[in-house]
Amino acid sequence: MRAVLLGPPGAGKGTQAARLADRLGVPAISTGDIFRANVKGGTELGRKAQEYMSTGALVPDEVTNAMVRDRLEQDDAAAGFLLDGYPRNPEQAVELDTMLADLAVSLDAAIEITADVDEVTTRLLKRAQIEGRDDDTEPVIRKRLEIYAASTAPLTAYYQGQSLLVQVDGMGDVDDVTARLIAAVDGK
Ligand code: AMP
Repeated sequence: MRAVLLGPPGAGKGTQAARLADRLGVPAISTGDIFRANVKGGTELGRKAQEYMSTGALVPDEVTNAMVRDRLEQDDAAAGFLLDGYPRNPEQAVELDTMLADLAVSLDAAIEITADVDEVTTRLLKRAQIEGRDDDTEPVIRKRLEIYAASTAPLTAYYQGQSLLVQVDGMGDVDDVTARLIAAVDGK
């Protein structure tokens, strides 16, 4: 299974990606996690990414695309993967199609976790207290939600056009959402 997971910040993508990937026996690849690990490790990539992440902006496409290309070329992604947080805009979606074509594979599904904006804002503010992520402050959350609406939400139409879109209700109990996701991908 090769799939991308879409949904607004705070929709539970990270948690659900890990669970679903485990179930599918493929790696969950989170671009946000890779960036955060690089920031923590003080790498060149981390230095490039940090200034954008701290304001809620997207890291430039050329940096992000190159990182994803490298990751997808690793052995553990050969039999499948679940991408969490990528693509984030139409240019990245087109680039992903190119990467997969170069690897002679294609996507099986684009899974959108849908969530109410007020609910996700509350969740993110709660997460800020628990995890202490420095991009979970109110102005940065607002910026991330704006970018989602302007740049990422249009991807649902892109994947619908490729007949890959599956929408799953992300509201309610975490286990219920996981069960819905598993049911949705079973049909793919
Ligand atoms: P996330 O953990 O997915 O919420 O991502 C945290 C931050 O990492 C985002 O607000 C962006 O600054 C950056 N980021 C993650 N994925 C991408 C991407 N596909 N393109 C650009 N920036 C990204």
